[in-house]
Amino acid sequence: MSTPTPSRSGADRCPGLLTPFVSADGAMVRLRVPGGRVDAASLLEISSLASRFGNPDITVTSRGSLQLRGLPDPLPRELITAIDDLGLVPSGPHDKARNIVGDPHAGLDDLVTALDEELLADPGLAELPGRFLLAVASPDGPVLAEPWDVAVIAPPLPEPTLPEVRRRSLEGTAQVVADGRAVTVSRARAAATALDVARRFLAARTDTRTWNLRDLPDEDRGDLLPGGSPFDVVAGDPPEPGPAGDDLVALVPLGLLTPAMVEGLREVAGSRESSQGSSHLDQRIVVTPWRSVVVPGAAGRAEELAAAGFATAADSPWTVLTACAGAPSCGRTTTRTRDLAREAAPFVDVAGPAVHVIGCERSCGHPARAHATALNPTNAADVVAAQHEKA
Ligand code: SF4
Repeated sequence: MSTPTPSRSGADRCPGLLTPFVSADGAMVRLRVPGGRVDAASLLEISSLASRFGNPDITVTSRGSLQLRGLPDPLPRELITAIDDLGLVPSGPHDKARNIVGDPHAGLDDLVTALDEELLADPGLAELPGRFLLAVASPDGPVLAEPWDVAVIAPPLPEPTLPEVRRRSLEGTAQVVADGRAVTVSRARAAATALDVARRFLAARTDTRTWNLRDLPDEDRGDLLPGGSPFDVVAGDPPEPGPAGDDLVALVPLGLLTPAMVEGLREVAGSRESSQGSSHLDQRIVVTPWRSVVVPGAAGRAEELAAAGFATAADSPWTVLTACAGAPSCGRTTTRTRDLAREAAPFVDVAGPAVHVIGCERSCGHPARAHATALNPTNAADVVAAQHEKA
C-alpha cells in the first residue's frame, strides 16, 4: 500500500503569494493570466474570492492581467489555496514571470500557450523582472504598441481549435523581434527563440534594477538576437468597444471589474454554452491591455453587458478617460482620482485626446498611447480642461 502524499498547505503551495504588495487599502495580489486568456468559470471564482476577502472589484491592469486588492495581511490560507487551485499563480519562483500580453485573436492561443509553458519550464527564467514583458501579436497587431521587450509576431491561425489540436498546429513561420531587430523562425521554434533572448538579457544585465532590454547599455544589446535584421514595428489601434465580427469588445471603466459585470459575463457565457449543449463555463474570455474584455460570440449581447456596467459603444467616454487608483487606495495622494473621473465622464470630449487622471507624477496605469494628464484635479471641470490643455 502506498503512503498517502500529505496535502500541501496553502503556504507550501503558493509561496509567492505570501509576500503580497501592501498598500493603504490592504494587501494586493497579482494574478497570472498569460495573454489575458481566462475562462468564465475562473473569472467567476476570482470575483467570489474578491467579495469574500477584500475589495469586491477585480482590478484589470494595463498589462491585461488581474489584481485582487484590499485583502487582509497576512493573506488567509483559504484564499491562498483557492488562488493556487485556480492555477493563476503556478509557483512561487515564477510569481513574477507572469507578463505575457497578447492580441486577443484565438488564432494566436497556440503561441501564448507555448510561450507560457516554456517560460514556466525553465526555473532560470524566474529571475526575469516583473516588468519584463513578452508579447504575442499578429502582424501590425495593437499589442505591438505596448512597451514589450520581446515579441512573437505571426498570422493568427484561421480557425479557433481545441487546445490539443492547437499545439499540433504550430506550423508556418513567425518573427521574433527584440530591440528593433527580427529573425524569422518556424512557428514551433518561436517561443524558444523568444525565451533565448530573455536568457541573454539575464546574462547581460549587471544588476537587478535593469528591468528591460532598453535599460541595457548599447554594447550589450547587439547580441540579444543573433542573425537579426532591422525591423520596423507597426502597431494597429486597440479594438474599439462594440461588436467585432461575432465577438464583443467590452471596455471595463476605470479597470474595475465589479461583481455585477462578472455576473453579466456569466450570463452571456452560460446562455451561449447551454445553447451548445455544454454544462461548463469554460468559454474563453480575453482580458486586454486596454482594460477591456473580448467575449467570443457575444456581438449581439452589447446591451446586456452595458447594463451590467461595461462600455460597449465606441462613443463611450471611457474610451478616452482613465485614472490611477488614487485615494483612498493609494497613500501617496488625497485626490480621489476615480471619483473625479466618474464625475467628469459625461463632459469629456469623446473625440478628443485620451486623458489620465492621476494623484502624483508616478502616473500609475497610464495608457501606452499618447495622452494628457490631469494631475491632482480638484473637480470634474479640471479633468475636462486638462484633456485639451495638456495634450
Ligand atoms: S499615480 Fe501616484 S497617486 Fe496614483 S496610484 Fe500611482 S502612486 Fe498612487
